Amino acid sequence: MSRRAARVDELVGGVVAGDRRSLARAITLAESTRADHREQADAVLEALLPRTGGAIRVGISGPPGVGKSTFIEAFGLHVIDRGHRLAVLAVDPSSRRSGGSILGDKTRMAELSHREEAFIRPSPGAGHLGGVARRTREAMLLCEAAGFDVVLVETIGVGQSEVAVADMVDLFALLVAPGGGDELQGIKRGIMELADLVVVNKADGDLAAAAGRTRADYSNAVHLLRPKWRAWSTEVLAASALTGAGVAEVWDAIGRFCAAVGADGELAATRADQATAWLWSEIGDTLLDRFRDAPQVAALLPGVEAAVAAGELTPTRAARHLLDAFTEPG
Ligand code: GDP
Repeated sequence: MSRRAARVDELVGGVVAGDRRSLARAITLAESTRADHREQADAVLEALLPRTGGAIRVGISGPPGVGKSTFIEAFGLHVIDRGHRLAVLAVDPSSRRSGGSILGDKTRMAELSHREEAFIRPSPGAGHLGGVARRTREAMLLCEAAGFDVVLVETIGVGQSEVAVADMVDLFALLVAPGGGDELQGIKRGIMELADLVVVNKADGDLAAAAGRTRADYSNAVHLLRPKWRAWSTEVLAASALTGAGVAEVWDAIGRFCAAVGADGELAATRADQATAWLWSEIGDTLLDRFRDAPQVAALLPGVEAAVAAGELTPTRAARHLLDAFTEPG
């Protein structure tokens, strides 16, 4: 057996055994842009594919400061106490820093990160969204193969990454703060429509009354949205990550969601759609890379781009010209 094949075998064995170091190494491999690493990551993923799919996949989003890390810590500890193993991944393509905090940063979830039943992995870092999303999807599959049965994917509620996360999870939860509508909280229009669960966090102390009103406001608002699922209507709950109140109810709601959309095959159909969509986005990304790297395209590109910018050539004709050059045999 070649050294490379032996390394793949060892990693696969480690991940299946639930060894966290092997899992971390496998994820690092999947995040790498080196061609030989990519090949090994593909081999690892392929071997592990039959062992994936066993987790509840939950996306969690909300503007900076809403209490995501505090909530994930409280929620994660609750879920672990119920006998589960939890992985926390992050998608933050804009930058590693968002509102002063790093998504998925272990220091933000101090207690959870020390638990044997939890695995926390920060965002693979800056890069274009497609790349970050792919690496997070693969990390999710690797976590499932390692026996984590709840996977949380964290992102900030202000941009395109929400759509990417909603496309890879079963349930998308949006964390909001008491008081202030979507706009005041910086939540982009459209993100509300992705939410299967809205949690008004900080429902404690002085903020408790405001949280109750915010909950009622969001309850009214979600009724006006087009339903995403046949078997599930978006629920709005209130919780306090600080005191832990309402955290159990969030977990219960996720359980009810899974029972509802799992029962009639809706969840399985959605996952199948997500996998197909992922295939097409892989095809798109790979084609684009190959297109840009092709020497015959690279030779023409600067001139064609300049002609389009100067208004001398229509983008449609220019694209056809470049694509013809790309597909012409050698
Ligand atoms: P993130 O940026 O969304 O991850 O937010 P953090 O979890 O870092 O929390 C931002 C601030 O809100 C911190 O000072 C937290 O202590 C505070 N916070 C988080 N959850 C709660 C809560 O349930 N109640 C109250 N009162 N404060 C909270």
